[in-house]
Amino acid sequence: MADPERIKAVAEHVAYTKRHGNDVVVVVSAMGKTTDNLISLANQVSSTHPGRELDMLLTTGERISMALVCMALADIGIDAVSFTGSQVGIITDTVHTKAKILEVKGDRLREALSAGKVAVVAGFQGVSTEREITTLGRGGSDTTAVALAAALNADVCEIYTDVTGVFTADPRIVPQARKLQQLDFEEMLEMAGAGSKVLALRSVEFARNHNVPLHVRSSFTWETGTWVLDRSAQISSKETAMEEPIISGVVQDTGESKITVVGVADKPGISAALFEPLAAANINVDMIVQNTSKDGRTDISFTAPKADLKKALEIVNGVAKEIGANDVTHVESVAKISLVGAGMRTSPGIAAKMFRVLAAAGVNIEMISTSTIRVSVVVDAASTETALRALHTAFGLDSGQAYSAPLPERK
Ligand code: ASP
Ligand code: MG
Repeated sequence: MADPERIKAVAEHVAYTKRHGNDVVVVVSAMGKTTDNLISLANQVSSTHPGRELDMLLTTGERISMALVCMALADIGIDAVSFTGSQVGIITDTVHTKAKILEVKGDRLREALSAGKVAVVAGFQGVSTEREITTLGRGGSDTTAVALAAALNADVCEIYTDVTGVFTADPRIVPQARKLQQLDFEEMLEMAGAGSKVLALRSVEFARNHNVPLHVRSSFTWETGTWVLDRSAQISSKETAMEEPIISGVVQDTGESKITVVGVADKPGISAALFEPLAAANINVDMIVQNTSKDGRTDISFTAPKADLKKALEIVNGVAKEIGANDVTHVESVAKISLVGAGMRTSPGIAAKMFRVLAAAGVNIEMISTSTIRVSVVVDAASTETALRALHTAFGLDSGQAYSAPLPERK
């Protein structure tokens, strides 16, 4: 919801859905760059951001949206009522800025719906077991929406975003990317975990755990987007008469840094000593590589979100002294490139082909990790575009035609 015009368009969309006989709960996120601007304001007044105060600040963005959407709905004759996360009973743990939802009460939503009203809920927020206002992490409105859909047993959770669905690659970087018709929860989970920004990872986990069908689409058009469903609910390849693709997409994550602890003793307890304090500080360590040891010493490299780099370095430098490591080095910006596809379970050789394609494109691989349906590599950030395009073509994902729908600025 970038501007007042978009808010009115959203209201029209909601009114249409409501008038066609649906009970509707709308979850809103903040307008445009509101959340980023609030963070920048916080930076301008202070370098200390107590979690409680940061959450108080950030939750205002969604409150603005919810009130405006209700007013726009009132203007076109739809009875609507707004609620904060706390008012609808979204109960979270006490971890400010990254809280997890523990329970959704939803009584006030049920009351509003049975009174024939549209309920508009501020996304991205809840209230902790200690009665403090919390936020659910960036992109958390998706999680609010899925959690409410699960609690209310909704038929579908429609996620309106700035692209028309989930694509085989980010169309801003790979113009030949295609919109996917459907994906299963596991594939979407891997994509979100691998850095796809279409849906917040937490929201997909929630959807899978509660089997909430998701429809990812754009509020700019009425075209069908991408359905994210349980495997058993998908339209089978027999019905579409199309061959099941092995790879569903190529995903990049350019939001990670790499830290290397050089020359640590190769003995029990070292990794635990290193990663326990990072976990305690809520830093999401992603890939970890430990080299074979030489003369009883080894190097350990890992990636973590750029946003946590400063905190991670402080912790690692402290531990490095304690465990007698030689040095700590870091690269601020690396790129993780992942291939995701449920078909990998039954097709060997995907990783090998991926490495060959990257080699032919002159891209050096720094780290590798895999799951049953994903292969990820860490490469130099400057190689992102080359790697994505080469893999997209080599794995037969190109559409033959450039994606031409209007795309907003890259965030
Ligand atoms: N406004 C929050 C953010 O920018 C939540 C969201 O957009 O989903 O991260
Ligand atoms: Mg968002």
